[in-house]
Amino acid sequence: MASRTPESLIDSHCHLDFDEFAPDRDELVQRAFAQGVKGWVIPGVTLQQSKELLAFTLPVGDVFFALGLHPYFLAQHQDTDLQLLDQLIEMNHARIVAVGECGLDSSVGDIDRQTRLFEGQIHIANHHQLPLIVHHRQSHHLIAQSFKKAKPKQGGIIHAFSGSLQQANYYRDLGFKLGIGGTITYERAQKTKNVVAELPLDAFVLETDGPSMPLNGYQGKRNEPEQLVRVFESFCSLRAEPKMDIAAALARNTFEVLGVEISS
Ligand SMILES: [Zn+2]
Repeated sequence: MASRTPESLIDSHCHLDFDEFAPDRDELVQRAFAQGVKGWVIPGVTLQQSKELLAFTLPVGDVFFALGLHPYFLAQHQDTDLQLLDQLIEMNHARIVAVGECGLDSSVGDIDRQTRLFEGQIHIANHHQLPLIVHHRQSHHLIAQSFKKAKPKQGGIIHAFSGSLQQANYYRDLGFKLGIGGTITYERAQKTKNVVAELPLDAFVLETDGPSMPLNGYQGKRNEPEQLVRVFESFCSLRAEPKMDIAAALARNTFEVLGVEISS
């Protein structure tokens, strides 16, 4: 079938544990798996959810966990959470692929507290030799300030990258891959599409960010795991290389940055 992907894909960022997926999660995952989406990285967003995540399972495919404190949930984070997160990672180190989703979000407020939590998580990642999954929203300049104070040692993923070539290269120089999702299905995303078209293939990993960030044509709907196939198709349309080569490069990139790969 023409719409089938030529190789296995990994969704490097999907909140499959969220309640939005509770009614039909297994079904959705099986449908995505049948179309070639064979692995998922699920980010942590709060301390409690990170703990629960460790018991999360799926009927098919490979599932990997990042643990972290997301800026959206700032009101839920306690000052002691950093220390407890550090301990949780220490105890489960072999099962954790990254620290995150952490970062800075200009729409949330209290940037000072967000910054303390973010830089704290960079230190935790460095201490455990783990990469970071970084959330940003109108905050590239603030993230750069934090990276000056607390330099990430293992790179990571800039989740939902949108920005200029210059910003992209700044992150690449620090060992980060750019997480590319449904944004590139929108006409208006010219800057991000330009980054996808211009940089070498080793710069990217794919993601859905489900249930958030619906693709063009699906606005207002839940973003589902199988949409990674459409993200892949859009990504390929911006590149000159054959699809097989692109899929192989994306798999290599995910392995390089997070150490994860599909088992089947
Ligand atoms: Zn996310």
